[in-house]
Amino acid sequence: MDAVAELISSAGQRLGPRAVITDRSEIEPWVTDWRGRLHGAARAMLAPASTDEVVEIVRLAAEHRVALVPQGGNTGMVAGATPPPDGSAVLLSMRRMNRIRSISADNRLAIAEAGVVLATLHDAAHEMGMRFPLTLGSRGSCTIGGLTSTNAGGTQVLKFGTMRSLVAGLEAVLPDGSVHDGLSGLKKDNRGYSLDQLLIGAEGTLGVITAVALRLVPDIARRAVAWAGVESAQRALELLRFLQARTDTVEGFELVPQDSLQLVLKHIPGTRAPLAGEHRWHALIEATTASPGTDIDAELQALLAAALQQGIIGDAVIAANEAQAESFWKLRDTISEAERAEGQTLAHDISVAVADMPDFIVDASEQVERAFPGTIASGFGHLGDGNIHFHVRAGAHAAPDWYEREGAEITRFVDDLVLAAGGSISAEHGIGQLKLGEFARLAPPARVHALRAIKHALDPLGIMNPGKLVP
Ligand SMILES: Cc1cc2nc3c(=O)[nH]c(=O)nc-3n(C[C@H](O)[C@H](O)[C@H](O)COP(=O)(O)OP(=O)(O)OC[C@H]3O[C@@H](n4cnc5c(N)ncnc54)[C@H](O)[C@@H]3O)c2cc1C
Repeated sequence: MDAVAELISSAGQRLGPRAVITDRSEIEPWVTDWRGRLHGAARAMLAPASTDEVVEIVRLAAEHRVALVPQGGNTGMVAGATPPPDGSAVLLSMRRMNRIRSISADNRLAIAEAGVVLATLHDAAHEMGMRFPLTLGSRGSCTIGGLTSTNAGGTQVLKFGTMRSLVAGLEAVLPDGSVHDGLSGLKKDNRGYSLDQLLIGAEGTLGVITAVALRLVPDIARRAVAWAGVESAQRALELLRFLQARTDTVEGFELVPQDSLQLVLKHIPGTRAPLAGEHRWHALIEATTASPGTDIDAELQALLAAALQQGIIGDAVIAANEAQAESFWKLRDTISEAERAEGQTLAHDISVAVADMPDFIVDASEQVERAFPGTIASGFGHLGDGNIHFHVRAGAHAAPDWYEREGAEITRFVDDLVLAAGGSISAEHGIGQLKLGEFARLAPPARVHALRAIKHALDPLGIMNPGKLVP
């Protein structure tokens, strides 16, 4: 028996058949990344139901020197949860650890196991009059463990920050099988290095997150969602600053180019453009209040009317009801899906300083389309965070080998532009496998050295998600 077979056999004996899946048809859907770019292989998918079972599994993996690839909803964008194609690793699915251990409005905390799906946590918090203020397009399938391990952002970062600011502490099984318990949720705890923060964004390379203490805020009493047409990305940023100077209720502000909107209308059933005329750019705005007495619709309406009068926007509409508000968000949330339906797309999740972003989008798009004629470049997303998804579609170049042939060259081109603008080649999606080469090429030596030293110190056997994040 080889090491993987020994691990599977020992895990089966100790944990029973529910925790050790070897049926190929059950494993198959989980060995390819969400974008369908990388295909891996795994002879087993281990599915623990408790922290103790994770401890067993990690100890066995260390004993047999078999790598574990932690996985939540497999919605990550950089193939961080995709096993290598040689079958040398096994999947560690956290989806059975899906209990909300506690939720307290008084403490403003929920303790959720790693496999809890984000939408489930939203519902549970809502039932208590509370809210977990992070959301994104994959909320129906991504998990708390995955969100924490990628330090996910989403559409409310403007006001509430990324997972890093919403995690009060976590529980994790470290590569030697010991359990770090940081679930107390203490606001003040200065006992040196923060293991919790180290594990946030570690992409499963330093341990397995089993539960997370999450900060809650009072539920939204009322929200207003608006769609505005603007003539440039610069105007969109002006609109954001205009609103922020007059109200603190804006918590979502997303930039959508006309090109992306058209793709959504073409590919996503049941969608329609919110505004009658054509606009080169659009802003999706969400304003919320926890106070039932505030007429947030009227407030946003008045502000948009003033912005219209000052020539900042060309037109705007406020969602008349919740269903329409959701339909506006759907237009934003399904851009990646629409692009996937259209054909080959190279995704770059990048950030530069907020004030530089409008010019960056325009300049970088022109430069890419000039250097690679026939491609179509555009940027959409979290303008107020200085983070957009800069995507390049194959367009006229579509071919089965486009990613390999031209894709890598285009990505290097884009990443060089980002670096020259003082930005980051990964704003919120992480490094995983897909960005590892570029990270190795461009990361400052001090960062790479520290990453390697930390990885080696905590995981000397290299059993936790090797080949991801650490160059
Ligand atoms: C439609 C769509 C929209 C998205 N929008 C956004 C967005 O706006 N902002 C944003 O930041 N991201 C976005 N994402 C990507 C986002 O990273 C994922 O949705 C989410 O953070 C990953 O959760 P998951 O449970 O699917 O993790 P997976 O994809 O399963 O795993 C992601 C990484 O975390 C590791 N991991 C998973 N669980 C654990 C665990 N318990 N312990 C240790 N390591 C673990 C994996 O090994 C892998 O490296 C989007 C994705 C989709 C499909």
